[in-house]
Amino acid sequence: MLKQCKRKIERLRKDIRQHDILYYVKDSPAVSDREYDLLMQELQDLEKKFPEFVCKESPTQRVGGKVSEKFNTVTHNTPMLSLDNTYSVDELREFHARVLKGLGNFLSKDIEYFVELKFDGLAVALTYENGVFVQGATRGDGKEGEDITANLRTIKSIPLTIPMDKEKIDFLEVRGEVFMPRESFRELNKAREKDGKALFVNPRNAAAGSLRLLDPEITASRKLDIFVYGIGMESAPVKAHSETQDMLQRLGFKLNVNRYICGTFEGVLPYIEKWRIEKNNLKYDVDGLVIKVNSLDFQKKLGATTKFPRWAAAYKYEAEKAETRVENIVCQVGRTGAITPVALLTPVFISGSTVSRATLHNEDEIKRKDIRVGDRVVIEKSGEIIPKIVKVIQSTKMKRGPSFKMPVQCPECKGTLFRPVKEAILRCVNYCCPAQLKERLFHFASRNAMDIDHLGPSIIEQMVESGLVNNFSDLYKLDYRSLARLERMADKSAKNLVEAIQKSKSAGLARLLHALGVRHVGQRAGVILARHFHSMSNLQNAKTEELQFVMEIGETVAKSLAEFFSLRSNNEEIVRLRELGVGMKVTGETVGDGLLGKQFVLTGSLESFTRDETKMKISALGGRVTSNVSKKTDYVVVGADPGSKADKARKLGVAIIGERTLNEMLNK
Ligand code: NAD
Repeated sequence: MLKQCKRKIERLRKDIRQHDILYYVKDSPAVSDREYDLLMQELQDLEKKFPEFVCKESPTQRVGGKVSEKFNTVTHNTPMLSLDNTYSVDELREFHARVLKGLGNFLSKDIEYFVELKFDGLAVALTYENGVFVQGATRGDGKEGEDITANLRTIKSIPLTIPMDKEKIDFLEVRGEVFMPRESFRELNKAREKDGKALFVNPRNAAAGSLRLLDPEITASRKLDIFVYGIGMESAPVKAHSETQDMLQRLGFKLNVNRYICGTFEGVLPYIEKWRIEKNNLKYDVDGLVIKVNSLDFQKKLGATTKFPRWAAAYKYEAEKAETRVENIVCQVGRTGAITPVALLTPVFISGSTVSRATLHNEDEIKRKDIRVGDRVVIEKSGEIIPKIVKVIQSTKMKRGPSFKMPVQCPECKGTLFRPVKEAILRCVNYCCPAQLKERLFHFASRNAMDIDHLGPSIIEQMVESGLVNNFSDLYKLDYRSLARLERMADKSAKNLVEAIQKSKSAGLARLLHALGVRHVGQRAGVILARHFHSMSNLQNAKTEELQFVMEIGETVAKSLAEFFSLRSNNEEIVRLRELGVGMKVTGETVGDGLLGKQFVLTGSLESFTRDETKMKISALGGRVTSNVSKKTDYVVVGADPGSKADKARKLGVAIIGERTLNEMLNK
């Protein structure tokens, strides 16, 4: 029995650690928060029963986050703790009872609570010295966090200076939650889907991922925001949590307006019901309420465990659930050919909207849950999370369809589907598949690919819908007369477009390789491959082993190219493009090696070319553009309004050059 329990405890710890890595490091959780909390609860209960198995490495004893080696480490002045979780009023009453017990002589009526929203983001600590923002850090493992000052500086609602002298303090560590508003999350995922990138599961994971990027410019583009809610090290003359928040507001920080002082514990309860529904109407995700003892003296008296303060608790809302029926399971083809099974449901109202579809992710997920057409299912949705099927409700009377099988052919083009080794996703790799065609044509014509002016989404839409264009090569067969037949296509526009398409024939091998949209072959890989192989036929004839030993190419790109060239339809398309006059050889601008092996970092805005163009030009001459300044950097190119990269270059003694010097290097 004892042995069995020990094994169970070890199993739970292993599972929780794995979920921690997926959640905190990879920003891609595999289970819901409630499922995770239940695992943790089970472990806590077992450890209580068998205290001999408790150890300080157990997840029950530590704050969950991890500190990445990508950033410098910051030691927190006072630990940044988690919060004790409750999911029911009874559990919250137990918290109140513990508070009363901890305070000894005080009666329930003496305890004032402060209620605020629990923002679903990432905890940060912002340090101000003499009115200036000097450091920003993540919570990490509670004792040590990551120095993400440069990224936090890009969030406009974080003041870079504050009038601390007015409050008669010279040091302040402010704590708050960085989050991604729902609208920004939707936009980000839409753009990622278009680029064939993995989608973020929810705004919390998107915020965490965006805040822990090495390039602050990308963080800046992610439209993050913050609500601050407290201070770390005690440094201000305040007596209650509510006073702390008022002071933070006076100092210019962004606080949420929905915060309440409750004279008694009972006064807290109506807010739980109020926000259960109203949280759905907010512009950001809220996963619960935080209930805090308001008096700072009481807080001090109650203290903290190694994991959370004893004076605060979270009331967490479970994701809303509803029952419905699976009417059909269909497969959808994404731009990169990913085949995703989708359940079509009897429409049901949940979490503020009517849901009639739920993604089933992949075949493994369907098998694991054994979801079939005709099944009654429980679905779950919370905030921005895409609705998902939690489980099938079995009933003896239920008439179930057969087990679901993924198709062997693409539902759109009937091409054979592939499941790359170690991947859960099935893909259509036919580059002429109509489902992917519009997005591929848009990418093909884009500025960094074949650079075809005037070929925008609406014209592409018409071309594909009317059957005028079925693949890339059809573009080069278009003449003025066929184009002029399209709706709203003026004579002059048709002429300009034909000219732009014809001009793109001389874009060169590097751009063409990028334009073809082969998985993992981006702009830089295109340049490297063009420089190495010089012609499309050399590349087509190269063996996978030869490909992966080309500097910076590696196994993934090599395999992807091999897969691409293994399909007859792709090779036939290349023959057609060649016959229509599209250049298949390396062009002059890709063959230089004047910057071979040199590493560049760009900061500030450049005037002569866009970022992407500059990167392409440096790559073309054998150089490389990276996002972070290190000792390995050869040059930091400084444009207008440079960021902190220029300071770092100065500190490390890396050469700083202006745009003019860069252009001289490029034109040598
Ligand atoms: P938590 O999210 O439950 O609560 C603590 C955090 O709440 C604080 O650190 C702070 O960042 C935040 N917070 C938001 N608003 C606040 C406010 N007004 N006042 C004070 N704090 C506020 O705890 P956690 O330690 O960040 O994460 C643990 C939880 O994360 C787990 O209980 C679980 O629900 C979830 N989790 C899920 C998985 C998964 O795989 N799904 C894995 C690990 C953790």
